[in-house]
Amino acid sequence: AHPAVPIALLVFGLVAILLLTIPTEDVQEPPGFMYGIVLDAGSSHTALYIYKWPADKLNGTGVVTQHTECHVEGGGISSYAGQQGAAGQSLEACLDQAVEDIPKERHLCTPVYLGATAGMRLLQISKPELSDQILQEVGQKIQSYPFSYQGATILSGKEEGAYGWVTVNYLSENFIKYGFVGSWLSAGRPTVGALDLGGASTQITFETKDKVEDEKDLKKLRLYGNDYSLYTHSFLCYGRDQFLKRLMAHILKGYPQSITHPCYPAGLNRTVKLNSIFSSPCTAHSYDPLASVTVTGSGEYEHCLGNCSFDKVFQPNVSGSFMAFSAFYYVHLSLQRTTGVTAQTPSQLENAAETQCGMTFNQLLLLDPKQRSRLQDNCASSVFVKTLMFRGYGFDEMSFPRVTFQKKAGDTSVGWALGYMLSLSSLLPAETVGLRKALTP
Ligand code: AMP
Repeated sequence: AHPAVPIALLVFGLVAILLLTIPTEDVQEPPGFMYGIVLDAGSSHTALYIYKWPADKLNGTGVVTQHTECHVEGGGISSYAGQQGAAGQSLEACLDQAVEDIPKERHLCTPVYLGATAGMRLLQISKPELSDQILQEVGQKIQSYPFSYQGATILSGKEEGAYGWVTVNYLSENFIKYGFVGSWLSAGRPTVGALDLGGASTQITFETKDKVEDEKDLKKLRLYGNDYSLYTHSFLCYGRDQFLKRLMAHILKGYPQSITHPCYPAGLNRTVKLNSIFSSPCTAHSYDPLASVTVTGSGEYEHCLGNCSFDKVFQPNVSGSFMAFSAFYYVHLSLQRTTGVTAQTPSQLENAAETQCGMTFNQLLLLDPKQRSRLQDNCASSVFVKTLMFRGYGFDEMSFPRVTFQKKAGDTSVGWALGYMLSLSSLLPAETVGLRKALTP
């Protein structure tokens, strides 16, 4: 044999022995996840969101993502006013689901928050003792689960707006980004405004350098070492459902027995109970709770438009890009489904709304059958969104094309819930995070 062969074998053997005797580091277990739960108790329904983040990686943006979501059957918690135990009970199925969705060993250290919005704000105005009772009851229900209960509260409109803005910008990684050398850097990107249209209120929130006239509309935040000055305003009673009630109340003036509704599709006939319109603080009038009225649709765009107004509040001019979510997204999508138009300019939105208002109920049903129960309100909702965008919030030819209509960013639902949890659970540092070792080599 060639003399090099035994030498090579010897060297190989020695290297193998050396490698076996070198103490090796323990193989690291994957870090595992931490979890947090937010119940978004909206006016029309409650959604339970479970978020997760790697246990050893706290400070970056984009690190917390949505694990699962669960939608509570039936109405929002405020709809159970006066029915003892019912609001709490309504949450059971989703809380049971959360027990399944989160690994057992993490249950006790999983914070759970419930935040209620404009439906409960309205109940707090009209029947404060009932809203207190509901909050207490849902709090007790949550505490019967093995999570770490952090409270059940009603968010102010200002909080709702600001947390929505935090969510949008956290998910867009506009606060900080992960640099090449294993450190978090200021993203240096402009932030995105947030437009939220719920069932009972609407919020607009954006960063502004202009002077904000009313201190109540100003929110200052310090995140990752940067100061943000936000304009934020919430319009109570200007959510989609409350607007529809106010529009009906306006058309019903004098409570005749039958009316023609210019925003309902032509050919549609509905019996409406006065109770369903006038029991809200947004439409407060004296009325006969047992009376009903017959409503016939006429599908007249111009006439429908003439019934939509907006109370103007001081607001700096909108600037930059915006993300429009919740019912803004649904209305935009319904226009797309029924007219084929993806509205990206003011005239596209206007033309699509006009086309939609001229469609009969059967035409709408053919194009968007899954939304059967909502089709009667398509025209009014689209005209409302148009009025809100252009007359209320002041979007125009230049600024409107910079609005994107979104329900999700990646797998995460866009709304105030994520921003709320991040802010309340110290996952959002005020100061910059220094050098951090990259987790993966
Ligand atoms: P919420 O998020 O429960 O406050 O609901 C916001 C608004 O969106 C309410 O007016 C709901 O009626 C409306 N909405 C919810 N889901 C849909 C949908 N799939 N299509 C159209 N509108 C919807």
